[in-house]
Amino acid sequence: MPEGDTIRVAANRIGAALIGREIESIETPQPRHGKDAWPDKLAGRKVRAVDARGKHLLMRFEGGLTLHSHLRMTGAWGVYPRGQRWRRGAHRAWLVIRTADHEVVQFDGPVLELMTDGRSRFDQRLARLGPDVLADEFDEATFLRRLREDDQTRALGDALVDQRNVAGIGNIWKSEGCFAAGIDPWRRLRDVGDEEALSFIRAVRPGMQKSVAEGFPKDLQVYKRQGTPCPRCQTIIRARGQGDDNRTTYWCPGCQR
Ligand SMILES: [Zn+2]
Repeated sequence: MPEGDTIRVAANRIGAALIGREIESIETPQPRHGKDAWPDKLAGRKVRAVDARGKHLLMRFEGGLTLHSHLRMTGAWGVYPRGQRWRRGAHRAWLVIRTADHEVVQFDGPVLELMTDGRSRFDQRLARLGPDVLADEFDEATFLRRLREDDQTRALGDALVDQRNVAGIGNIWKSEGCFAAGIDPWRRLRDVGDEEALSFIRAVRPGMQKSVAEGFPKDLQVYKRQGTPCPRCQTIIRARGQGDDNRTTYWCPGCQR
C-alpha cells in the first residue's frame, strides 16, 4: 500500500503538471462515476493546489471543489507527458485529466470522490486523521495524546499504522522506523514511554523526507528482509502479522528492545 511519502511525491508531480494550467478535458471512464457529471462540474476550473494528508490526496479546484482520493492497496497515480504510454491499461483508469502538456491518471480507484471544500474539512475520515508524519512541524503533543487514548494493551507497531494516531505510516515505514529507533514493535503501548514513541517519529521522518526528495530508498534495513542477518547485529530478521488486520511487521529480535 502506498504510504505518506509516495502520496506526497504523487501530489508534487500532479501539482507541477496541473496547478494553474488550462485543463483541456476531464474524463471518468468507470461506469460507477458515469452519472456524477464531474467533467461538467469541473469544466473551466483550474487546479489551485494538490495536498497530501497522510495517505489521502486532495486536488483542490477553483470555486471550492475538491477531488478526494485514497489508493488503498490497489490504486496508483500516473503523470505522463502527452503521448507517452501509460504504465497501466486504459481500462483501469478512473480519472484522466489532460492539459496541453500532460495526462494525469488515477488507476484502479478505489476511493475517488468530489466534495465541496467545506465538506472536505468536516469529512469524518479526514477529520479523524492523526498528525501528518510528513508535516513541516510534526504535532508531537497530539500524537502522544492519541496514543494514550488508544488501547494500551495494543502493540506499538499496530498502533503506528492506525491513521488516527499518526497519518502516513504503513507497513514499510512502521518496520523501518522501529528498526531505526531500536524499538521492538511488539511492545504494548503501556510499556512504551512518551520519549520512546517520539523517538520512532524522529527516526522515521528523515527516511520518509529523503524518499520524497530523492526517490524511494533501495536500502531498506528490515522490510521484506526476513530470514537474512540484521545489518546492525547479524541476528536473523523476522516477520509476523500484527493486529486485527494482520499487517506484517519486520523486525530484528536482537537489537530492537
Ligand atoms: Zn539487529
